[in-house]
Amino acid sequence: MTATAAPTAAPFRFFDVQVARTRRLGPSMVRITFTGERLDELVSGGRDQRFKLFLPQAHQAAPVFADTGDGWYTAWRAQDPTERPIMRSYTIREQRPDPSEFDVDFALHGADDPAAAASGGPASRWAVGARAGDRLTVLAPAVEDNGGVDFRPPPGTDWILLTGDETALPAIAGILSWLSPGTVAKVWIEVGHESDRQALPTFADAEVNWLVRDPAAAGQGAPVLDALRAADLPAGTPYAWIAGEAGGVKAVRRHLVGERGFDRRAVKFTGYWRRGATEEDLIAELTAAAAAAGRE
Ligand SMILES: Cc1cc2nc3c(=O)[nH]c(=O)nc-3n(C[C@H](O)[C@H](O)[C@H](O)COP(=O)(O)OP(=O)(O)OC[C@H]3O[C@@H](n4cnc5c(N)ncnc54)[C@H](O)[C@@H]3O)c2cc1C
Repeated sequence: MTATAAPTAAPFRFFDVQVARTRRLGPSMVRITFTGERLDELVSGGRDQRFKLFLPQAHQAAPVFADTGDGWYTAWRAQDPTERPIMRSYTIREQRPDPSEFDVDFALHGADDPAAAASGGPASRWAVGARAGDRLTVLAPAVEDNGGVDFRPPPGTDWILLTGDETALPAIAGILSWLSPGTVAKVWIEVGHESDRQALPTFADAEVNWLVRDPAAAGQGAPVLDALRAADLPAGTPYAWIAGEAGGVKAVRRHLVGERGFDRRAVKFTGYWRRGATEEDLIAELTAAAAAAGRE
């Protein structure tokens, strides 16, 4: 998981945004389009551009911050956890000018299964119920070349490998739309339902493999790893980008580096979520690890 314990503010900036409209993309995904003042100053680097979303608590109409200046992270941590905004990591799926707006695609974990609805987290639950006018705050890039873009294939790359689940689908879509014409790309995407598949426009020479989870496997299967093991991969120098559930991401990375001989520097891997852990749990782990490292 790369939720940073203390995300840097520059070249990121806070923007107050509101929901312009929502569109259900399939059983497991909803696209929320945000608008707001000064959004012309938000500059996405495209590809897998990450940003931080701050949700109001259930009893609030808008996120309540003690401070959104340079010391925001310390102030946010010091706030009462029942009052401070809920912080989550997401991807800018697409940004458009005139009018200035951007889309975020939310995976609705638990939302399509009433029995599991309680297992969805605050962000997923917020997205299910989002309505035009709902207010949020985001910490988003103000310059195109920013540290929130990880997909950076080095010169000399012959082909691209992408894998992910629904949470990584917005980033994979952004990467595919960014690739140069003719770039060879092999893509594996795990989704919950056949109708979660999306059109993924690209000029690349991309082969997209959709892997629909078996509901009976309930988090036990490893569809991407199984498909990769069986795949014939192209010759030449690869660059891999892997995201999704942290355990699955590690297993795919291990396969590519250990069994396929990929150069570990050419494998960008990111746990976008971890089974059984909220983003608060992951941030707490990172904060504790940073404090322990500081004591050594
Ligand atoms: C850089 C980055 C970019 C991301 N971009 C996107 C994006 O564009 N769209 C998107 O939907 N997600 C994205 N994610 C993942 C998202 O931040 C997590 O899924 C997050 O945990 C959702 O918050 P929540 O409040 O719904 O659940 P939390 O409160 O964080 O977690 C509650 C419970 O739900 C489980 N859980 C969390 N996510 C899932 C899931 N997808 N499926 C099943 N169980 C889950 C957790 O393990 C936990 O048990 C991204 C993550 C990172 C690090």
